[in-house]
Amino acid sequence: MSNAAEPNLMEALVSLAKRRGFIYPSSEIYGGLNGFFDYGPLGSELKKNIRDCWWNDMVRRRDDIVGLESSIIMHPKVWEASGHVAGFSDPLVDCKVSKQRYRADQLFWSPVVVDGKAVGYVSALESEKTAEDLQAAAELFKRKKAITGTLSPVVAKDFTEAQEAEIPLIPSPATGEPGSLTAPRAFNMMFQTNVGAMTDASAVAYLRPETAQGMFVDFKNVWDTGRVKLPFGIAQIGKSFRNEITPRNFIFRSREFEQMEMEYFIHEDADWSKCHQEWIEWCRQWLLSVGLPESKLSLYEHKKEKLAFYSKGTTDIMFEYPFGVQELWGIAARGNYDLGQHATASGKPQEIFDEATKKKFVPHVIEPAVGVDRILLAVLCAGYAEEDVKDEKGNVEKRTVLRLSPRIAPVKVAVLPLLKNKEALTKRAHDLYKKLQRRYAVFYDDGGNIGKRYRRQDEIGTPWCVTIDFDTIEKPGDTFTLRERDSMQQTRITEADLFALLEDKVH
Ligand code: ATP
Repeated sequence: MSNAAEPNLMEALVSLAKRRGFIYPSSEIYGGLNGFFDYGPLGSELKKNIRDCWWNDMVRRRDDIVGLESSIIMHPKVWEASGHVAGFSDPLVDCKVSKQRYRADQLFWSPVVVDGKAVGYVSALESEKTAEDLQAAAELFKRKKAITGTLSPVVAKDFTEAQEAEIPLIPSPATGEPGSLTAPRAFNMMFQTNVGAMTDASAVAYLRPETAQGMFVDFKNVWDTGRVKLPFGIAQIGKSFRNEITPRNFIFRSREFEQMEMEYFIHEDADWSKCHQEWIEWCRQWLLSVGLPESKLSLYEHKKEKLAFYSKGTTDIMFEYPFGVQELWGIAARGNYDLGQHATASGKPQEIFDEATKKKFVPHVIEPAVGVDRILLAVLCAGYAEEDVKDEKGNVEKRTVLRLSPRIAPVKVAVLPLLKNKEALTKRAHDLYKKLQRRYAVFYDDGGNIGKRYRRQDEIGTPWCVTIDFDTIEKPGDTFTLRERDSMQQTRITEADLFALLEDKVH
């Protein structure tokens, strides 16, 4: 799915992320590793803040949800029972000449139809302008082959829809020539490893491709020990790994990423649809609470005929990224499939006893699953702006600003003594800095003119700067200049009011 493209925004963001220490390519000095990233000093703070907000809102501030941290490598039978060994795959297409690999559902093609007759085929990789690329390729094809007549508009199909006889006729996007693309085959996305000293089949294990199975496998442990009663949820934050065929769009689709998932267990007779809707709305509200604009969020309900047989319904919260409208958070109603599968495979019943009906049953589940990295990318995309502003002398200059919510901004306040060589100023500034640092991520900056220092903080999304100036030390009241990032308004504030402001806005 795509919409209006903003390719320059992505370039600007990737550059800012590197320049200011948010995100680096992994193992960069060795040329990087496709699909893996490192979070730098500011990126790791931002990511931690997203995780903490979610954990506080999802687990600590609710009475019906408890936390879990399960191991990344689990018994291999877990992934057989869950269906991942047999079915967690993407359709892979090889180009035998260029050795490039494609995901079949991201490789598009169309017949070139002139005067109602197919005269050849064109292909293009999925982008925000796939149809335009195919149309341009069809026009070029017609011109090159000197074919006369009227060209019909292209009809874009993905490679999974190609008939066997069409596959040899569709050109490879790498070479432009037909005949080198293979038929799609299932490529399992789980990373394999070996546990222990043996390397034979008995030692094969997997890096988890989702955190969710931890909650199912530990369901009975939590039920027996967690003092919970239905409906209740188990939440977990942790790394997941998928050997994506084509990692892309920066951190949007990577091979190592972090998930925040929650399994909400309900009675088999409960109104699952109502509960599903409530969770969709909860997740939407949560995204607003960390600063995503409502106008960039939408809902996508999966078509009934495309759902797995056990699924009752899935709705994705979509975000309008610069490269298109894409899935951010999936909220699935999974019935009692997962617990049922583990009961059968392990031989350990996963039923619980219902006091009211005196019957045993396997609880059903609603699963909101979201990626931390995708949220982080969304807040960067939504918050980034380049603006023309006037400096103190009235000259117009550019400022880059990251409008991050105070809840997740990596630095909450910057403390700036007006002059670096005036001890009364630096002493008071340092004293405030140390007090703030006990509770918040704060930055102390005494280098360069004050306007430049404000700009540096704007660029990393710091919501407030406080300047310790001559009024602070010479006038009564011990007030500082508080400068607000978005409005650039300056007011005076006392230390107590500054703490009250932070207490109100940051948590
Ligand atoms: P997609 O269709 O985009 O591959 P999915 O439907 O396979 O995603 P789920 O299995 O539902 O994703 O995973 C839950 C969430 O985990 C997704 O909504 C997304 O936020 C995140 N996620 C999944 N795969 C990746 C990835 N490769 N990189 C970063 N985040 C991911």
